[in-house]
Amino acid sequence: MKVTTPAPTRWPVITKDPAHLAVIPNLVDYDRTYATFRWADEQRTLAGLADGRVNIAHEAVDRHARGDRAGRDALRFVRADGSVRAVSFAQLADETDRFASVLRRLGVQRGERVFSLLGRAPALYTTALGTLKHGAVFCPLFSAFGPEPVCQRLELGSGSVLVTTRSLYLKRVADERGRLHALRHVLLVDADGAPEPDTLDFAALIAEAPPYGRIAAMDAEDMALLHFTSGTTGRPKGAVHVHGAVTAHSATGRYALDLHPDDIYWCTADPGWVTGTSYGIIAPLVHGVTTVVDEEEMEPERWYGILAEQHVTVWYTAPTALRMLMKAGADRAREHDLSSLRFVASVGEPLNPEVVVWGLEAFGLPVHDNWWQTETGGIMISNYAAMDIRPGSMGRPLPGIQAAIVARDQTGSPVVRGGAAELVTDPDVVGELALEPGWPSMFRGYLDEDERYRRCFVGGWYLTGDLARRDADGWYWFVGRGDDVIKSAGHLIGPFEVESCLLEHEAVAEAGVIGVPDDVAGEVVKAFIELKPGYEASDALQRELIGFARKRLGTAVAPRRLEFVAALPKTRSGKILRRLLKARELGLPEGDTSTLEAGR
Ligand code: ATP
Ligand code: MG
Repeated sequence: MKVTTPAPTRWPVITKDPAHLAVIPNLVDYDRTYATFRWADEQRTLAGLADGRVNIAHEAVDRHARGDRAGRDALRFVRADGSVRAVSFAQLADETDRFASVLRRLGVQRGERVFSLLGRAPALYTTALGTLKHGAVFCPLFSAFGPEPVCQRLELGSGSVLVTTRSLYLKRVADERGRLHALRHVLLVDADGAPEPDTLDFAALIAEAPPYGRIAAMDAEDMALLHFTSGTTGRPKGAVHVHGAVTAHSATGRYALDLHPDDIYWCTADPGWVTGTSYGIIAPLVHGVTTVVDEEEMEPERWYGILAEQHVTVWYTAPTALRMLMKAGADRAREHDLSSLRFVASVGEPLNPEVVVWGLEAFGLPVHDNWWQTETGGIMISNYAAMDIRPGSMGRPLPGIQAAIVARDQTGSPVVRGGAAELVTDPDVVGELALEPGWPSMFRGYLDEDERYRRCFVGGWYLTGDLARRDADGWYWFVGRGDDVIKSAGHLIGPFEVESCLLEHEAVAEAGVIGVPDDVAGEVVKAFIELKPGYEASDALQRELIGFARKRLGTAVAPRRLEFVAALPKTRSGKILRRLLKARELGLPEGDTSTLEAGR
């Protein structure tokens, strides 16, 4: 099969202007750091507990609360009206101690699962870190989930405690409580002294809690977090993570996000997803930086206001959010004083080169893409602060991470010879992105799905399910999810390449690309387009967009068909659901849509 690699980017490399970097980046010399990095050395930068024991919450909270950062803001919650509630490291230590104490009083044992179903309010952070302090397992649920996804996950994860609000409990859980056999305690954060039947008052329990005493000393391999994947490809999987993962949260916070002690940092991801926990709670707190939390939903004016008023220095967001800001125009950004901002990073989906470069226009800074997944627990491949950017590339592997491209056969299966996976050595040839197992935040299993877990490891490598290529200099380029890649007339086409090209057209706000069956070519490319405000769907515009893509990508790769839509279907974490576009196109069952954003 002839393999069409993504066209070499038409975008010039963005070289870093040292003047843009207010402080010396943590990763000045990539090659040297990569060559000399050892996880054991990284582990020694953490405080640790006696006898080699560890607890994520100790690294994130207690050691700062006992040191010179006690009075510093750990979290700053920006409420709907713009007012701010700040919580210092010392206060966070106290609150989380109390919650750990509540769990002990309720008879919750180590390893039991404590679920949260909460918006981004203080109780969510208290629950997460207090649960870890007690040695129980924290499992966050996204607050916008409907009853079925909530109960399905509570059931799959055998949740014994749920912390939520009165209305979420009544709307999502109360009617299904009978089927949740493991669920012993429901704590309502807004019970106001009058709990619902069979629930407890979170605030009252916290207020009465006795001192916790010593934090649970955990083995590095003890389970700490249970994270369900986004469900982009189907039924969500429960990925198991351990306390030892904190070593990776620390390293990636330093190298990929370039966190420095005085940073004001904002991660826009909801802790209902792995990004919002690994990088919205753990990594920044481990580094003792101040984390901004927006309690509301995304809206350009509000977001620029927060960046400016909170003097955010490091911002971690997602392509879907950036595309929405782009839609509103770069002028909106320039109306605000964003001079504190020195580093912008993105994750969750491929970041179109157009968006990377738009960052220069809007913030005076390029956007740094990085790649990882729920299973990897932390960032694996990244564009770094001091490194030049090749727009459209995910960057280079993090120090301590061995990445490779595994060859695939005609059927798309990895090629294994003599027990070893065959690695692609030629630059720019597409294969499956793989990682050498052994980094601290690697998932230790899919909950109750051992066989599925085992199938992820082939010939000494963890297979990510994503297709990518590596250029001659070691930069990685995302091609598509294995399932989303289109096979047309002997070509292998990554939807990302086609979507990025369409996004370069001034009328296009978002693009989702799939393959649809074709008698002659096997599959042909079809694009679904969301237009920017001020543009009308028409046959002329349809022809123009197809012509635009043909000129840039050639007829083999450009979409043959194109349809305008009001909104693309997305997961709640903001990922385009191509499998749903395809199912709808072909009139097939929609499959698991539990993570589909409402109204899509
Ligand atoms: P599921 O596994 O349930 O189908 P999911 O893979 O979307 O859902 P996540 O673990 O949240 O769940 O997402 C990780 C995936 O998101 C990656 O495997 C990759 O496909 C995509 N992704 C994340 N970051 C990037 C990036 N920077 N560039 C391209 N793709 C990315
Ligand atoms: Mg996945």
